[in-house]
Amino acid sequence: MKKPEFSSMSTIERTLSIIKPDAVAKNVIGQIVSRFEQAGLKVVAARLTQLSRAEAERFYAVHSARPFFKDLVDFMISGPVFVQVLEGENAILKNRDLMGATDPKKAEKGTIRADFADSIDANAVHGSDAPETAAVEVAFFFPQIDVHGR
Ligand code: GDP
Ligand code: MG
Repeated sequence: MKKPEFSSMSTIERTLSIIKPDAVAKNVIGQIVSRFEQAGLKVVAARLTQLSRAEAERFYAVHSARPFFKDLVDFMISGPVFVQVLEGENAILKNRDLMGATDPKKAEKGTIRADFADSIDANAVHGSDAPETAAVEVAFFFPQIDVHGR
């Protein structure tokens, strides 16, 4: 019998997560990954890496016209980051829910940003915000990984 295709109706997704330099420096990689695992997200690729300025600028190119762009890039290259591909049911939205609002002061209690972030710049985590950005961002760090899990 033919192997079942990865159904187009399936809500199993892959998304890119970055544990940012502030959280890596705080030694909470494990605690943050634990939250993903407890929520049913599986780490299917991961590595600790140091972004160059050019890489950080390219990754955040969508924000290049924003007043905070230089601060954002300076922060993202200030130390190592832990990049991961997370897989699971509604992974993109689930990861965003676990992260909490961009500004940790506005993030709901119990979210990663509420618990680990210090400011809107040093806000502990990045997560892809839609299927299109997940595809681009997964390919940015893990070109060998198929974002559709095939
Ligand atoms: P995210 O998807 O929740 O990470 O937020 P955005 O995509 O809107 O912004 C990307 C990143 O830029 C955020 O995670 C922050 O680190 C930073 N950022 C966003 N808005 C601001 C801002 O108003 N001021 C500063 N300093 N940084 C910001
Ligand atoms: Mg964003």
